[in-house]
Amino acid sequence: MKLTDWFETRLARTHSPWILGEIRISPGYLLTHREDVPEDPRLELVSSGEAFLDLVRFDSAGRFRPLRGAPGLRKGWRRGPFSAAALIADLQLLYPGAVALLAAWEEERLAPTPFAETAGRQTGLYQVTRRLSSEDLPPLVEEICAQGCLRRPLWHASKLGSDRAGDLSLLCPEACPFFLHKARSRAKRPA
Ligand code: SF4
Repeated sequence: MKLTDWFETRLARTHSPWILGEIRISPGYLLTHREDVPEDPRLELVSSGEAFLDLVRFDSAGRFRPLRGAPGLRKGWRRGPFSAAALIADLQLLYPGAVALLAAWEEERLAPTPFAETAGRQTGLYQVTRRLSSEDLPPLVEEICAQGCLRRPLWHASKLGSDRAGDLSLLCPEACPFFLHKARSRAKRPA
């Protein structure tokens, strides 16, 4: 089944609006920040792909957002109505891979990569992350992932909590470069 077909079927299984990270998807399909009211006439219609990419890449203070899964997306805009394919393209910019990962997870095709395997592949600057022990990981995951990212680190804990109906899980199957970058400084510190 094509990803667009899968996603439309998946959305139809739960009541709208559908929430993915900080995004609200309303029937149609319309995209807004989850804290905005889609009918609010003050919302700015972002019609160009370039303007939308700027919105994804920079926060309201103009700072670059190095981690797409981090909270802090600007509010006050709307996109759509869209086809399912255009919706997935926007979500791909917002949360790369999120829809394909959700499909793979729900079809039991997604195998998270243990941290030791990810660290074992690192060379150069990040090779030091191999030194992190299983005791080092929980506080790092708490600080970097739980406090600073909306994705769920399946590579650390592969069970999902229960979501509100309509919530679409934002998944993370493998420690990301941002995590490795942050964890690197911890691995370098003396015990
Ligand atoms: S490793 Fe952590 S910070 Fe990186 S994408 Fe996954 S959950 Fe987010």
